[in-house]
Amino acid sequence: MVALGELPMVDAAVHSDTQFERSETYEFAKQWTPWLEARGVRVVTVKPRKNSMVLFDDTGRTMLPLYTKDTNGNGGMLKRTCTNRWKIAPQRRWASDELARRGLKKTPGVIEKMLGITSDEAHRAKTNDVKYIVNKYPFLEDGCWLSRAAVVRWLKDHDLPIPVKSACLMCPYHSRAAWDEIKLSGSGDWQRALEIDEAIRNKRKRAGYTCYLVPELVPLEQICAQMSLWNDAPTLCGNVGCFL
Ligand code: SF4
Repeated sequence: MVALGELPMVDAAVHSDTQFERSETYEFAKQWTPWLEARGVRVVTVKPRKNSMVLFDDTGRTMLPLYTKDTNGNGGMLKRTCTNRWKIAPQRRWASDELARRGLKKTPGVIEKMLGITSDEAHRAKTNDVKYIVNKYPFLEDGCWLSRAAVVRWLKDHDLPIPVKSACLMCPYHSRAAWDEIKLSGSGDWQRALEIDEAIRNKRKRAGYTCYLVPELVPLEQICAQMSLWNDAPTLCGNVGCFL
């Protein structure tokens, strides 16, 4: 909408690349970044610091909100730090550098940050926790109240593609439908998620629990095992959700 003049031009479109995005997201960025730039939108990709790009840090603390099972079979969930370390902190480092380059100080509201939250998830629209950044929600403000479906319609009306949901390929918040979609995508993402699932399992064994990517507290492979029965005939139905 910014590129086509339906929203005011921005100083930069900032993409936080967690390094674990799905293949389709990287493909989408590769294809559409030049399109944005050709229309005057400066695209900036920020990344986490190298020592943050790990699933467990040196102290054994994990970044991910993993599901846990203790020796009595009780379930739990670890606190996540991935959003902060992989998305918010890199953006703020870039913003600080950009302000310094322009000789600006972190005065209240010096940065306006537009976020594409739609009316379906309006509860996620919050005030920024630092004063120098003011969050703006163009789909929810100034008489606007756009749903996700309305945004999809807008993209279709403008002959623009619908991107896949942007999330880390191994995110424990994935729904079953999202896992199914990753498995059926045919990219290497499913294999990578399986490897990560395996790698996290016993990292906290000394603390008395095992870790999982899915709330069923079983290896990821098992949760989608039923699907594999259908793998030879995925064209039976175009809707991957039907396999649930
Ligand atoms: S998508 Fe999931 S794993 Fe990735 S940063 Fe967000 S919460 Fe963490």
